[in-house]
Amino acid sequence: MYRLIERLYPICRSLTGNGVRQTLKILQEHIPLTVHEVPSHTPVFDWTVPKEWNIRDAYIKNSTGEKIVDFQKCNLYVLGYSVPIRKKISLAELKAHAFTLPERPEWVPYRTSYYKENWGFCLSHNQLSALPDDQYEVFIDASLQDGQLSYGEYSLKGQTDAEVLISTHVCHPSLANDNLSGIALAVFLAEQLSARSLRYSYRFLFTPGTIGSITWLSLNEAKVSKIKHGLILACVGDEGKVTYKKSRRGDAEIDRAVVQALKDSADPYDVIDFSPYGYDERQFCSPGFNLPVGCFMRTPHGKFSQYHTSADNLQLVKPEFLGDSLDKCLSIIDVLEGNAIYVNQNPKCEPQLGKRGLYGSIGGQTERKNYELAMLWVLSFSDKNYSLLDIAEKSGLKFEAIKSAAEALVERKLLRESAPRYRHRRHNRETLR
Ligand code: ZN
Repeated sequence: MYRLIERLYPICRSLTGNGVRQTLKILQEHIPLTVHEVPSHTPVFDWTVPKEWNIRDAYIKNSTGEKIVDFQKCNLYVLGYSVPIRKKISLAELKAHAFTLPERPEWVPYRTSYYKENWGFCLSHNQLSALPDDQYEVFIDASLQDGQLSYGEYSLKGQTDAEVLISTHVCHPSLANDNLSGIALAVFLAEQLSARSLRYSYRFLFTPGTIGSITWLSLNEAKVSKIKHGLILACVGDEGKVTYKKSRRGDAEIDRAVVQALKDSADPYDVIDFSPYGYDERQFCSPGFNLPVGCFMRTPHGKFSQYHTSADNLQLVKPEFLGDSLDKCLSIIDVLEGNAIYVNQNPKCEPQLGKRGLYGSIGGQTERKNYELAMLWVLSFSDKNYSLLDIAEKSGLKFEAIKSAAEALVERKLLRESAPRYRHRRHNRETLR
């Protein structure tokens, strides 16, 4: 994941343009995602797909011809979506088009002007403050023209059509945690899941923030009812503990599955309620959709000082934290995949577990005790009204313990799965026949 981030880091991405295409092309080396192109001006709910922005070069030169700001060295120097310009200007005029971060004077801020045509440069506050009165040449070789909005989509078919949505934004230039970390995590999650036998189908979206998810929802409204659970991935590579932002519903199965998996990990974590501010959960959870989609993060956007600055770089994200985020997402998926309702086949009094070899079958005293407890909990509550996740929550035991107890009981015919919640896909049933 870290190596992928290193490779994607120099590319100048934006809402639209070749940087996003180049990024998606690199992701195709890992997963066979489809790249969709949606023409500028396409109406998508209350919005329209913007013009396509591409940038080739930009700089500021002083009167001796020296480049004091060079886009080739750092793409954050240019205000995102800047219109082209070539002009000689005074220091005062330059300052009117310059963005700095006085409270972090050594960092370059990340700024965009997507919906109002403008041009500008982002500099460190120290650099701008030190500029002498001079005549400066500003040059931005960019184009803002009718074109396309590009996004990536990868569908992984499971046994049922019921879907888990994993979505991440791909519109930020050289910023590592927000959100190359989310892109890398989604890609590796997809790679890992593609090697597994899955109950759910999985849909991975790599879209520009806000307008991308609005566009997808607008063009795919008919598919939305298949989405049973969803996660937005953002800022997942920093050293902070995992923070989960609940879906707008607040008590959806995904919300409970994430809390269960994080609790089972025994690492510190935070759970926060939904708010209509943040990433693409805002669109998926908007009242007209109200999908069960939460947001998986480490330190939330705006809560780390490097957020949206040049300091959100390759030093901020670390392989170990990316790995931890991947492990935790996989354990969330284990809960979703494993959660089912079972029925006790011997419901009149407790079955005798000893004669079926179910006592003392695994080593380690605590482990054995929890395993036996898990069997008792599963037998006691498997009356069609409680799922394994319900039972894990009630018992305080790890989901994994509850799940493996259920598997052992199924094997001994003491338990059977209640009617599956989602029907198997048609061609699978035919294959089985
Ligand atoms: Zn951001």
